[in-house]
Amino acid sequence: MYQNKFTNNIGGRTQQRPSFGRNNFSSRNSGGNGGGRFGGGNRSGGGRNRSFESRIDISMFIKKAEPMVKIEDVQVKNNFQDFDFSPILMDNIKAKGYLKPTPIQDEIIPHILDGRDVLGVANTGTGKTAAFALPLINEILLDPNKRILIMAPTRELAQQIKQDIRSFTFGMRVYVALAIGGAYIREQIMDIRRDPHIIVGTPGRIKDLAERRIINFSKINTIVLDEVDRMLDMGFVADIKEIISQIPSPHQTLFFSATVDKKIEHLIDSFLVNPVKISVKTQESSKNVEQNVVRVRREDKENMLHKLLGQEEFKKVLVFGATKSMVEKIYVGLNQKGFKVGSLHGDKAQFQRQRTLRAFKENEINILVATDVAARGLDVADITHVINFDKPNNYEDYVHRIGRTGRANKTGFALTFVESQY
Ligand code: AMP
Repeated sequence: MYQNKFTNNIGGRTQQRPSFGRNNFSSRNSGGNGGGRFGGGNRSGGGRNRSFESRIDISMFIKKAEPMVKIEDVQVKNNFQDFDFSPILMDNIKAKGYLKPTPIQDEIIPHILDGRDVLGVANTGTGKTAAFALPLINEILLDPNKRILIMAPTRELAQQIKQDIRSFTFGMRVYVALAIGGAYIREQIMDIRRDPHIIVGTPGRIKDLAERRIINFSKINTIVLDEVDRMLDMGFVADIKEIISQIPSPHQTLFFSATVDKKIEHLIDSFLVNPVKISVKTQESSKNVEQNVVRVRREDKENMLHKLLGQEEFKKVLVFGATKSMVEKIYVGLNQKGFKVGSLHGDKAQFQRQRTLRAFKENEINILVATDVAARGLDVADITHVINFDKPNNYEDYVHRIGRTGRANKTGFALTFVESQY
């Protein structure tokens, strides 16, 4: 069953005339913001930001939030009862407050229960984790010899998947271990020696643990690859191929990816057997996000950020910087001004990354400045605003960044700083 044609939404998106809603900010020196000013992204007047504007039409960063569709209001075919999950799993689903499956869960769960290979085209924010975790946990309850390997591109996403699984397996004898880089390997070795049902990790550490003969691929019967496109971008393709090639056949393979391009098709062809392909539109997660640009001179960007963050409605804000050093610079500036802020990027030790993320999740800090390491997959509740202090590299990254807000039935706001010379 091929639900939707895989289209590349980046090129196909309807261009909109800009609308200036609540977030009509402009730099003191920007010379105002005449209504039609950003209408044609091709007009990169006088050579301003030409390379950027010729790559990305900035009018794509301006968009009204669409009327909100609550998860409960989306039509789906199944109830959770229809999946014949065990009563204890049903209790945990209820305890999470899930009333009915999200569209991706509705479509995918029956196929996973049937043992089919699956390709799910979906972003985080669509309920993708539960879409694979719930049926696999149910399988473990039916057959405790089942062993599952889940690979994710970032340590944070792997940790989040593990936490989600722990909440679904509450009160069960179903065990899950983590295998991620940057964290003490000894603890992970001890956990994995206890032969958990599920190992969640990043490809590099998983490979390392297999080479040390701690992870035994010959026992694995199901493999899940989350955010495959991102894993390929991060150069994990050789590790992934090596790992999958060591898992004995027959096994079940579940791939999740936000996009499906040539590179991924190649992997799909080599690793998925007669897969069911399910797609939920990649833009779903940004529908709830009101988007606008802020024209600002480069030298005024930090002041503008401070000004915005000083406003009351900017309650919980994720700020994206282009580089690790820029993120640190923004962080230091905000910290000096007394904002409750943390920073997240690849130069930080894993324990610092975890501590900062926890502080953000638990509202000890309300501003997180990050590189694109935070753009994908993170599910932090109630982020009110995403600010692209530096532009994203491409529209796809943009969609991922702004997908951190406007989650779980809430409207979010995304502001992108566009450097102006005036
Ligand atoms: P994910 O795409 O897995 O990151 O999930 C996004 C958010 O949706 C998470 O906060 C989940 O807890 C939540 N979620 C997942 N499935 C459901 C559901 N069936 N009903 C309500 N919320 C859900």
